[in-house]
Order: sequence, then C-alpha cells, then structure tokens
Amino acid sequence: MTSPQPNPTQLDSRTEPSFQETVNLMVDQALARMELSPGLAEKIKVCNSTYMVRFGVRLRGKIETFTGYRAVHSEHLEPVKGGIRYALLVDQDEVEALAALMSYKCAVVEAPFGGSKGGLCIDPNNYTENELEQITRRFAYELIKRDLISPSQNVPAPDMGTGEREMAWISDQYSRIHTTDINGRACVTGKPVHAGGINGRVEATGRGIQFALREFFRHPEDSAKAGLSGDLSGKKVIVQGFGNVGSNAARLIAEEDGAHIIGVIERHGAIMNPDGLDVPKLQEYLREHGTPKGFEGGKFVKDGAKILEQDCDILIPAALEGVINRKNAKNIKAKLIIEAANGPVTFDADTILNQKGVVIIPDLYANAGGVTVSYFEWVKNLSHIRFGRMERRQEELRHHMLIKELDRLTAEGGMTSVSPEFKEEYLKGADELEMVRSGLDDTMRTAYQAIRQIWHDRDDVPSLRIAAYMLAISRIATSYISKGL
Ligand code: GLU
Repeated sequence: MTSPQPNPTQLDSRTEPSFQETVNLMVDQALARMELSPGLAEKIKVCNSTYMVRFGVRLRGKIETFTGYRAVHSEHLEPVKGGIRYALLVDQDEVEALAALMSYKCAVVEAPFGGSKGGLCIDPNNYTENELEQITRRFAYELIKRDLISPSQNVPAPDMGTGEREMAWISDQYSRIHTTDINGRACVTGKPVHAGGINGRVEATGRGIQFALREFFRHPEDSAKAGLSGDLSGKKVIVQGFGNVGSNAARLIAEEDGAHIIGVIERHGAIMNPDGLDVPKLQEYLREHGTPKGFEGGKFVKDGAKILEQDCDILIPAALEGVINRKNAKNIKAKLIIEAANGPVTFDADTILNQKGVVIIPDLYANAGGVTVSYFEWVKNLSHIRFGRMERRQEELRHHMLIKELDRLTAEGGMTSVSPEFKEEYLKGADELEMVRSGLDDTMRTAYQAIRQIWHDRDDVPSLRIAAYMLAISRIATSYISKGL
C-alpha cells in the first residue's frame, strides 16, 4: 500500500513522479503513520471517476473541437466540490490530482464536500469574450446533462483561467436547463454578487493565505522551526504568480501586516525591490502593460525562475504545480514556504526541502480559503438570504443600549465615557463581508491548530504536510465508516 521513501541522494536516478503520483506519495507518507481498516486506504486514494468530453463549437466560420474533463475523486460527502480550470496543460492526470487535493482540502477545513475538479484545454487569451461564453456554455451543458454540475451533486468554482464571469455563465446555463430548480444558483460558486455570489469570495484564497500565516506566527514554537520569530511585520516575501491568489495575498500581508514583498515573479520575468514593492501600483501596472518590465518601483529580472532561489523569509508559490522540483529545491533559500497554488512542490522537492529544515505550509490547508468561502456561498444560495440580513440591525440596537447605559453611568460618576471613534466602530453590526471574513478566519485558525497538534504530538510526524494529510484522511475515513463501508 505505502511507497518507500526516496533517499534524497538517489533522487536523480529516476524521473520525477507525475502530479497525481506526487499527491499519492504524500498520502502514502500519512497512511504509513495511520492504522486504517484493510482496503479503506486504497478506496480513499483512488479517483472514483473521470468524465472526458470532446465537443464542437462553431467559431469564426468553422467548428472547433475542445476537450474538457470533470474528475470526481471522492463522494464520501456530496455534493463534490472543486474548480474548473482553463489552461492548455489540462489533462487527466492533472484534474485527477487536483480533484484528490479537493477531497483532502475540504476535509481539513471541514467543508462538507467530496472532491472534484474540472478543466478545459484552452488558452482563454486566444478567444473573445463572446467566444468564451459560447465555449463555456457548451462545456457547462455537457456537464449539466450528466449531473456533473448540480447543487446537490457537483458544484464547480473558479480556478486558473476562470473567474466570476465564467461562473455566471455556468449558473445561467444551469437555470436554462433546470428551469424550476429553486436551488439552481447553488450549482456553482464564485459567481458575481449580483448573480447570487457572496461578498469576499474573490479575495478568499489570498485572504486565507494571510489568515494561515498569521496563525502560524501566533505559535512561536512553529515559527522557530523555520528559524523565524515575531509576526509578519518586516518579513521579506517573494510571491510567484500574481493572478487573483498571489496578488491578493501579497497586497493583504503588505498593507495589513507590514510584510515586505521584495519580489514578484510573473510569466514575463520578475520584479524586485529589497525595500518592498508597492503592490497596488504593481497590480495596476500589470493590468495596463501585461508585464512587470518597465515598472519603476523595482528592478526587472528576465529570468524569473531564478528569483525563486533568492534569499527571503517567506516564499509564496501561487501559480502552477511543480515549480519547485528536484532541479531547484536544493537552491531554495526561503525559510518558510506557503503553498498558495495546488501542488507547487513536487514530492522529491518536498523531501529535499524537509531535509534542509524549510517549513512548508501545505496546499491542502494553505489555499483552502477559496473553497471555504465557496461553502458559505453555497449555504447562502440554499438559504436564499444574505448573511446578516436578519440580525445586523438587532445587533446594532443592543450595542446602542449598552453604550447609552455606559454614557449614563460615566456621566453620573463624573467620568469621561468611551471615545467617539470607539462608539462608531462598536455600534455597527457586521455586514456580509465581515461575517465571511470572520468565518474564514475561524476556519483557518481551527484547521491550523488541528494540524499542528498532530505535528507536535507525534514524534514520527516530521512535517505540517504529513500532519494535514493525516487529519484529512482520518476525517474522510470516519465518513466512509459511518456510511457502512
Ligand atoms: N479552485 C479553488 C481550489 O482549488 C476553489 C474551489 C472551490 O471553491 O470549490 O481550491
């Protein structure tokens, strides 16, 4: 069942495992430290099904054929959940690996879903908005008619190359087919707020990275393992990938926690500034120019990959899988890596980095902020009411009563009362965005605490990754057992 651990010195003698093999090898490391009933481990590991579809769309006067996938890894809980990716490199191995990660991710953050993932082999940059809508609607139709998009069975979300726009098309396509489904909007998450989405979903994965880092630094024993101390303030950070996740994570930890983003690696090269980049300005520049080249707030470096190996406290890979691999792992100088992307560190690189004492906050926990807020959106869609709508003003009323009484008591006692700023802050009830952030913060803290407990309690658990997989697997196993399997 379990695979032998590679000896780091022998790693060069074989080819690096595929993405799916990487996930399974990591799972094996956890399984080797657990006692599961015979056959259950295999049941958990395998991908239940993968649907592959080829469909044609008439574009620019001819029919173009596209290939898409939807993999369902585990249905121990339904619906199953996971994004739809638009990228040229999408293939069966990738969607199955990503679907498996979704199962483990949902278990770690206690989002009550099984794992799934979809993908379309396409470079979205080559199509107009109108063409993309046609392609998305057709792909969605293929999945909807097989219940691979459904509020109760399979709920997609954005991923690389897709966003709110695509999710709105998918949701609308579902409602055209299932005209009387009152819960239809819950068939997909990551929709725009005006189309049934939730406030805070766009920033959610980046926000989750921020909450995960804050929680990590709340435990000095943990940061000490990485040779770090204090909090995020003044930490030198390099971010690889500046899409939705990387840019939000960078902006939030720079603006709200005082981290210095000393490097950003993009497709066309990297931009460096040892004093910290102005993240919103860089975002604006990239939106306008499509490349960091020419940005005045930093030095442009053409060979972006080399910057991964630059000295820093925290490295945030936030793009593709496999970017830290056998070739560059030994040169990585970061003390802490937080995996904002799925699978950015290969199995071999993970072995090398662990040997070097680099602490890795693993993907199945670190980037789970997205699916956590997707869970809130799904609940909102099923309950047909915005979070906070019933209680917000009631909360304000009670706060008013308390402040009024405090004013009276302090006046009677000849004392000064609370400051006007405090009053203003305290009086207002929480809106949906604040509630979403609070729910996400609580989720990220609770999950980290459960993972670190395994990491610290057991002498045979050397990494947060193994601990996170052990946590996920034990929860999935419990689900399967209670189902009678
Ligand atoms: N695509 C995101 C992920 O990989 C979000 C999934 C979701 O919200 O269902 O976690």
